[in-house]
Amino acid sequence: METILVTGGAGFIGSNFISFLLEKNQQINVVNLDLLTYAGDLNNLKVVEKNPNYTFIQGDICDRELVQTLFEKYNFSDVIHFAAESHVDNSIKKPDSFVKTNVFGTFTLLDVAKNYWMSSPNQYKKGFENFRFHHISTDEVYGTLGEKGLFSEDTAYAPNSPYSASKASSDFLVRSYFHTYGMNVVTTNCSNNYGPKQHDEKLIPTIIRKAILGENIPIYGDGKNIRDWLYVTDHCKGIELVFKKGKPGETYNIGGKNERDNLYIANKICEILDEIYPKENTYKMQISFVKDRAGHDFRYAIDATKIEQELGWKADENFETGILKTITWYLEKYK
Ligand code: NAD
Repeated sequence: METILVTGGAGFIGSNFISFLLEKNQQINVVNLDLLTYAGDLNNLKVVEKNPNYTFIQGDICDRELVQTLFEKYNFSDVIHFAAESHVDNSIKKPDSFVKTNVFGTFTLLDVAKNYWMSSPNQYKKGFENFRFHHISTDEVYGTLGEKGLFSEDTAYAPNSPYSASKASSDFLVRSYFHTYGMNVVTTNCSNNYGPKQHDEKLIPTIIRKAILGENIPIYGDGKNIRDWLYVTDHCKGIELVFKKGKPGETYNIGGKNERDNLYIANKICEILDEIYPKENTYKMQISFVKDRAGHDFRYAIDATKIEQELGWKADENFETGILKTITWYLEKYK
């Protein structure tokens, strides 16, 4: 039975992905390597913690000795790499850990995997031929869009925040291991995710939490910044498809054609809460505008034609169906 190394599996997307993968595939072992930074939470993994095919290791992806030891112990057939510092606001205040984890950590994993799986450039060791490194990245590497246009896999990289610059750097390292060493890598660049288990600091959990607690719901600037929102399970489905069927060396954009601006999102959440968790006044009265994020990108939007046409992916949720599920989940957590 093959054993996959998943990094960052105690975070938002990684934990959703591990339960999704183990539920669908009984013939896979997963080892989850996660440092449990402030963003990691083992409660996210309650559904799999007793699964005999699941193992948790607390540790740093930058720790080469540890990563090497784990490869030797578990003979990983693949890596699916989620671990990262992921919050743009934190990267503006304190970029150091973004460079360390996102750039150096990705390099460490790639390099250990290459040395373990390959004997020389373009030469996999016997029995290791199909082993794959799947790098999870973001659409933020492409920079910002105006009112029109979409990010495709051919869009030039133009990262604008320390977060997106560190992710862009890691994408380039992954790309270089394909071109230089012939390593079997794939990268997925996804738009903004939302859904259960996301950290409190992110936009949608913040709106729901502040609404329920009766506090001001902070919206940056004029609330007109647009993101292309994807329900996390749709992202997990895209990752599994690319992991199993994507072409080595290729990148795939994942996005659900669900562009919404921040003010629309706040209003929508308030409307749903007014309906399913009503109180005396509408929640909309709590929406308040705060000083904009430095260097705030105006718009991101994904052209997902490649993954749709080549691999048959499509999003099952639109924003309105996904947000209802999401609010229902956070109501249980926050109320
Ligand atoms: P998250 O912040 O919720 O989780 C990150 C996880 O990585 C945490 O469990 C943390 O403990 C772990 N981690 C951090 N540094 C580590 C280190 N040095 N060693 C080991 N583990 C470490 O992030 P997320 O939102 O789940 O994002 C996962 C991946 O998906 C990231 O690579 C991110 O760039 C990418 N991504 C996220 C989104 C999004 O909307 N959240 C969109 C596209 C791509």
